[in-house]
Amino acid sequence: MPTKSKFADIEIPDIDTWTLLFERSQKSFCDDKVILHDTISSRAYTYDHIRGSSIGFGQALRQAWNWRKGDVLAIYSPNDVDYATIVFGTHWAAGVVTTANPGYTVDELAHQLVNSRAKAIVTQAPLLETTLAAARKAGVPRDRVILMGPDTVDTTVLHFTALPGFRVHDSNEHAQRPYEINPSEDLSFLVYSSGTTGKPKGVMLTHRNIVANVLQTDRANDGYITCGDGTTGSGDRTIGFLPLFHIYGLTGVLHYSLYAGIEVFIQASFSLPTFLNLVQKHRITYNNVVPRIILALAKDPSVANYDLSSLKMLISAAAPLTKDLVDLLYARLKIPVKQAFGLSETSPATHGQLWDEWDLGIGSIGRPVVNVETKIVDISTLAELPANGVGELWVRGPNVFKGYLNNEKATREALTRDGWFRTGDVGYIDERGLCFITDRIKELVKVNGFQVAPAELEGLLTSHPKVKDAAVIGVSSKALATELPRAYVVLDAGVEKSNETAEEIANWLSERVAKHKRLRGGVRFIDAVASSATGKILRRELKALAAKEQDVK
Ligand code: AMP
Repeated sequence: MPTKSKFADIEIPDIDTWTLLFERSQKSFCDDKVILHDTISSRAYTYDHIRGSSIGFGQALRQAWNWRKGDVLAIYSPNDVDYATIVFGTHWAAGVVTTANPGYTVDELAHQLVNSRAKAIVTQAPLLETTLAAARKAGVPRDRVILMGPDTVDTTVLHFTALPGFRVHDSNEHAQRPYEINPSEDLSFLVYSSGTTGKPKGVMLTHRNIVANVLQTDRANDGYITCGDGTTGSGDRTIGFLPLFHIYGLTGVLHYSLYAGIEVFIQASFSLPTFLNLVQKHRITYNNVVPRIILALAKDPSVANYDLSSLKMLISAAAPLTKDLVDLLYARLKIPVKQAFGLSETSPATHGQLWDEWDLGIGSIGRPVVNVETKIVDISTLAELPANGVGELWVRGPNVFKGYLNNEKATREALTRDGWFRTGDVGYIDERGLCFITDRIKELVKVNGFQVAPAELEGLLTSHPKVKDAAVIGVSSKALATELPRAYVVLDAGVEKSNETAEEIANWLSERVAKHKRLRGGVRFIDAVASSATGKILRRELKALAAKEQDVK
């Protein structure tokens, strides 16, 4: 019998994200509640402003570029309060948003632009050069590159607010949307994930997927996160540093805050001193984090200089969290940490510890969210296993994606005919119904919650003039509370296996990839990459080899 939530299923309305967030008949907070605060500039946007500027942007898309239903808009930017307008304006106009890591190189960005068939790109001034180079490579016309973020003068491209047709709409103005949306079929986002194997693929998330996951997340919060009396300054407050290009930030922070009326202090990217300052200054009440932030809070001496007593809970997801870390933080600061779990393919949340069960089975990812069924299957027979049996985690529910873009083979491998999604993660469900993740059968490496696809790095490495073959795995660093990518390399005949060669290869790769993909787990030389009869790299053998070595510092 599949495992389900402790709570009864809820009804998922047949609506799109825009309707869920901006056309609700009932909500508990005022239209003029500030939802997004910029932590550097003076920009602070109310719910009403976000709604009005999103309509304005949607109309500008129509007027400036004849935007059609299903057209794809790429956002290549660090977190910013304008992210909301760009995302929801595109949705208003029935477009699809693809989000790219602002650390991407020209080639990485160009790949996503081509693969997603992006019609336009929104970026920020500091990233303009990379964006224009990638746009050129991908064939996106220069006049379809626009800026968001703090107003910029003296640049050669338009800020989105200067697009013809843009203006912030009043709340009492009616603006007819141009297309009907079918929530179960039409896409809201194309986020990128390598899935079980291979290079990053476009994960097709429908409007229904996201609507479901916002409501599932809300039910899991069980009234522990609220908008207070609905005015600015009351209710829960959080810091939005999780990347909005990743589904964890996109659904869990951006959509959720607009749904629940939570104030978010947007941080472009994480820095510990800024985080600590913001918590103290704004009396932050809870935060979504990744394990390395728990590590910093548990160990960094500077933490002692701040008053963090307003934090009632931290929610850690995106990568494995150990019981040791949770215990360490609690012993130091008395701040509880509950763990959640999810994937890009599940919009993302599938599991979470309940608020009042955070200390029940610490290290567990908790229970399924409502409307999700889960089971553990034997890796070879695919038979469902009883309690405590270790196997692959499968999930089924309204938040499970539609498939990989233009990749039927990968879609067929990931989704069964009866709707189960094979996560590629390994674990067990105990007799209390709590799920524990213990391993991963997929290739994916997670660096501080960011994805690294070994196949992508292997493809690059084998194009290095001294490399004959290469295999990449993740090695864990307890000291940094993350995995790091390590390459096992077969050199061409006659090339010396030296520290210099290892360094040369690592540096060469660093120039070609985003920071988190760098070979910080090292480069090791081997004589041959072992592969199976079907040509699959036997990563287990390399993992066993790595396990014999010391922890990576
Ligand atoms: P992404 O699609 O980038 O969100 O990555 C999803 C993957 O991150 C999952 O399949 C897991 O391998 C890993 N992951 C996410 N949350 C957790 C967690 N709480 N514990 C262990 N692994 C996790």
